[in-house]
Amino acid sequence: MPTLTFLGATGTVTGSKYLLETGGERLMIDCGLFQGLKELRLRNWNPLPIPPSTINWLVLTHAHLDHVGYIPRLVKDGYRGEILATPATVDLAKITLPDSGHLQEEDAAYANKIKSSKHSPALPLYTLDEAVKSLESFRAIDDSKPLELSSHFTLRFFGAGHILGARSIEVTIRENGKTLKVLFSGDLGRYSQLIIREPAVPDAADFLLCESTYGDRLHPTDDYQARLAKIVETTAQRGGAVVIPAFAIGRTQELLYIFRTLIEKGQMHSIPIHVDSPMAIHVTDVYLRHREDNNLETAALESHGGQPFSPPNVHFDRTVEESKALNNAQGPRIIISASGMATGGRVLHHLAQRLPDPRNTVLFVGYQGAGTRGQKIQSGAKFIKIFGVDISVHAQIEDIGNLSGHADYGEILKWLGRISSPPQQTFITHGEPGPAESLKEKIIQQLHWKARAPVYLEKVSL
Ligand SMILES: [Zn+2]
Repeated sequence: MPTLTFLGATGTVTGSKYLLETGGERLMIDCGLFQGLKELRLRNWNPLPIPPSTINWLVLTHAHLDHVGYIPRLVKDGYRGEILATPATVDLAKITLPDSGHLQEEDAAYANKIKSSKHSPALPLYTLDEAVKSLESFRAIDDSKPLELSSHFTLRFFGAGHILGARSIEVTIRENGKTLKVLFSGDLGRYSQLIIREPAVPDAADFLLCESTYGDRLHPTDDYQARLAKIVETTAQRGGAVVIPAFAIGRTQELLYIFRTLIEKGQMHSIPIHVDSPMAIHVTDVYLRHREDNNLETAALESHGGQPFSPPNVHFDRTVEESKALNNAQGPRIIISASGMATGGRVLHHLAQRLPDPRNTVLFVGYQGAGTRGQKIQSGAKFIKIFGVDISVHAQIEDIGNLSGHADYGEILKWLGRISSPPQQTFITHGEPGPAESLKEKIIQQLHWKARAPVYLEKVSL
């Protein structure tokens, strides 16, 4: 009998990893890193319940680290199969995985320096070299048609509308004359987006795994572009800078696209805009190279020779020197920098520099996970620890939730509602306990489907 094991993304938005087994074959869907709270991060060090060498295939929904960041470790621990993903996901993973390896090495070096680890010496989960090596196993697939892996497993892909290359994955399992479909939503994006096409809806599923990041929330529906322009204008009038911690993939490109539009329409003055994240700069190149997921408006703009991600006065700061020079830069400007939840990266320098000054604004544009610096600043912390120093928070703190890359519960229910028949079971994954529970209740009450949130390492028969 086919089984499904939840190796992550239960009670958390991180660590997405699912295992399907049938007829002696093993297929893994996503291979994400646990992030955020320490008890979650420690799970990255637990061996998987099955040897990685016994997994036949790994297929990816998209290139965010909470879906791909464990891959180098999986390969290091013996996985020898192919890693299948859309061409854009492969190109994005070539950027995110080496960067992650570099960060793992930095974290280990820092732990050794301050002797914070029980282990001596502290070791990285994987190194930059191991991350680069794991890329050799990637294979870009043609996701426009079904992909038969074996007599047991066939895959179909549906645009998930989340980031470039993101897909929902339908797995058809055949065993002993019985056929069933398991649908993995992946991370679902929003409807009516600026750059990426909205999510497509698979027709049916016997078992469904549905993400629930925003299972308890609706995104605001106000004119957020006008609000964004006002935040920038008000800060500029004070002579301050707007620091935006932004995910390198997706959010940075949307911000550039919006600033370009606002300035062109005369709704915002043109001030220097710095993209201070080497990863975001590389990712922007990938967005320009892969147009297959573009919505009509973006596609039309590009086909007329427009540069969607180049507002006037934009500076892509590639070198450390350029980044450091920004610290001393006076006067109005916008600084877009990663990481999006202020857990690391160059944005920490900008926050340490700009948070104490009330002329500045720190603007959050995406999900801030539990325990992250971003979430602490967002919820009104007066001090925040950066590089071991308490930094006082006097800057204006703003939040524009409309730019989230995730569907809210209304959009998730809309997506689910278009699936033609009720699945035998809907598993609520990829959400913190509150949002997951909230979405479960809504699915039961509004769609009258069976739904439940699985627990970590739970194995179910299908
Ligand atoms: Zn994602």
